[in-house]
Amino acid sequence: MRPSCSFSSNEAQLFQSLNGIRHLAETRRFKAWFLDQFGVLHDGKQPYPGAISTLKTLSKHGAKMVIISNSSRRAATTIEKMNSLGFDSSLFLGVITSGELTHQYLQRRDDSWFAALGRSCIHMTWSDRGAISLEGLGLHVVENAEDADFILAHGTEALGHPSGTALPMKLEDLEKILESCALKKIPMVVANPDFVTVEAKALRVMPGTLAAKYEKLGGEVKWMGKPDKIIYKSAMLMAGVDASDCIAVGDSLHHDIKGANMAGIESAFITGGIHATELGLSSFGEVAESSSVQDLTSKYDAYPSYMLPSFTW
Ligand SMILES: [Mg+2]
Repeated sequence: MRPSCSFSSNEAQLFQSLNGIRHLAETRRFKAWFLDQFGVLHDGKQPYPGAISTLKTLSKHGAKMVIISNSSRRAATTIEKMNSLGFDSSLFLGVITSGELTHQYLQRRDDSWFAALGRSCIHMTWSDRGAISLEGLGLHVVENAEDADFILAHGTEALGHPSGTALPMKLEDLEKILESCALKKIPMVVANPDFVTVEAKALRVMPGTLAAKYEKLGGEVKWMGKPDKIIYKSAMLMAGVDASDCIAVGDSLHHDIKGANMAGIESAFITGGIHATELGLSSFGEVAESSSVQDLTSKYDAYPSYMLPSFTW
């Protein structure tokens, strides 16, 4: 089927509707493909139908592929996860996660903002999903806002303890800690700017929710992943390309599509991920109504170049 176009009164809202990425890959117009993982390649538990073979075919068309992910874990964890789900991670030029960027910036401190950051932090982390190691960062985890220089948000399930363990904590209690941090006016580094993620069809609260709450309380937040330019710059550097040579593929309008818009990169919106329910989609591969997508893109002020039901060929 030929790709169709959807037009609206605002030229910025023009996007092309595709069945799969074949048309885009065969033109070889994009040298680098920046791929989101959750909601595009897999759902956290299993690969989406066709995703594994689509990556192989895309690679054969000469695309340099970089996974850019708002995971709070380091790049190596994503590579292991991709392999365990049956993906061939050697097809990727590399993986950049918000957790990896956070780790590197906190370790190097060669950026003026990070250089000025103290060493004592309140650490919000995971418990059931596995706590995040701060090894090698020279940080001191503290329990009270009075003793902290900044907040480091990796997760939404637990509070890091000075001993290195993590104390499981409800989201509401973590939010109470944010209130005292806001009074002290300490900044937050958020190592996963997602608000929610798709996990085996259920939506889970992510650290971006804590960061948004902290901004509401008047706190300063350093967003270490999508939609901030920081992750796109890093991906372009890795692939050795300019913005005009790239396309970003993702399922979150706020993170993937708005991020691409702000970085000046074309983008492909996968409708079957995080926004599936809002778009009235219930089965894999179901095509969203163009008008529903247009309404949603206006709502999020994020405008994809293309829309596809899923990451398939
Ligand atoms: Mg996603």
